[in-house]
Amino acid sequence: MSCFEPAGIAKPAAGPAAHDVNPFAAMQPRAPAPTPADLRNGGRVKRDGVAPRGVYLPNDNVLTPQMRSPEYVQISTAAAMTLGIMPGRMHRCECTRCLNLLLTYPEGCRANCAYCGLARHREAERDYADRNFIRVDWPAVPMEQILDIVARDPANSPFHRMCISMITHPRSDEDTVSVLRAWTRRIDPAAIPVSILSNPTTMAREDVVRLKDLGADIFTVALDAATPEIFDRTRGKGVQSPHKWSRYWEVLMHARDVFGPRKFGAHIIIGMGETEREALELVQKLVDLGGHSHMFCFFPEKGSLMDHLPATPRDQWRRVQLARYLIDYAGVRVEQMRFGDDGRVLDYGLPRAELDAVIDAGIAFRTSGCPGKFRDDVSACDRPYGDSPPSNIASYPFQPGRSDLRRVRRQLRIPVVREDA
Ligand code: SF4
Repeated sequence: MSCFEPAGIAKPAAGPAAHDVNPFAAMQPRAPAPTPADLRNGGRVKRDGVAPRGVYLPNDNVLTPQMRSPEYVQISTAAAMTLGIMPGRMHRCECTRCLNLLLTYPEGCRANCAYCGLARHREAERDYADRNFIRVDWPAVPMEQILDIVARDPANSPFHRMCISMITHPRSDEDTVSVLRAWTRRIDPAAIPVSILSNPTTMAREDVVRLKDLGADIFTVALDAATPEIFDRTRGKGVQSPHKWSRYWEVLMHARDVFGPRKFGAHIIIGMGETEREALELVQKLVDLGGHSHMFCFFPEKGSLMDHLPATPRDQWRRVQLARYLIDYAGVRVEQMRFGDDGRVLDYGLPRAELDAVIDAGIAFRTSGCPGKFRDDVSACDRPYGDSPPSNIASYPFQPGRSDLRRVRRQLRIPVVREDA
């Protein structure tokens, strides 16, 4: 039974004008505009026919070359800086701990997810390799060049994990296998374990089995939407996109069978119209199945079909972020929590002193994802500033300090109770 009194949390202002949640009714994506026939399927890039020459930096004022996986992959700006491929420094981070290898093709992703910068509806506006994704550019890099750098000293690599990130493309199943084989030929997966961020729409059970047999450690499914209605509206029929909620769950269940407990997970974006209760019931369901949830705070990605909508209010995000951590790592169940009529968290189901200790430890507010080498609840996948600007951090890509945690408490409307907090 909970001893945490909701009196410790300031009551939210009444009514929709409070703007402290993103309600379903407000989070309607724009309809995608039709793409002229000659620009579909990477038409411009194929017409120009420019041959790739090493690393391609997005928007660098040259015609976008034709680059394809498995020879090429895209990597985040943070990973490119960590590898020494791009200059620059990140706000309060030395490096990223996860090397995400995003499959790439002139045709781009064939899905149209409303929150995503890689979506198909952008074909006319921006070539595939120039599209922003989770707020940053993704340079395209020859796979061999990445392998040459990482294989020099995998045991002492800054990367705690590599993740092959699939997109929706007819080649992506085979090319995921090729990239995984290329990696494990040169890098011991015991030194840098491999995760798969899958694309269930093109996958069958045997694909899941094959990736496990080839040495993948964790398999994740980007549900992204917390409910079937939001899924359909943002990545299914609502935006002329091919994905189906039922198919994603089918593959998630394959991952559970094949990869086993704590070796599978699902991505969930918070703030696309679900209630806090709906999101946390999903988190509980994943824990009950033996998996984990990896959470992202909705951010209106420039050029996406949701770029006119508000980012998730920080108080909604913090409540779900904290509650998710309690369910995933502190043994609290969603049934112990108390929710308002509108589904918002009123009580976290934990005695106040214990809740204070979790908040003060700060890990709950770090980026969530597949684990690294430090501890199970600290994600290798730190995605620096992937879901917020550095000026108003949603997922901390580093251990939050005292002033960060004071800010988090204000966002949670939980008073600072310790002088040294
Ligand atoms: S399938 Fe993935 S990469 Fe493609 S549009 Fe959807 S979220 Fe973006």
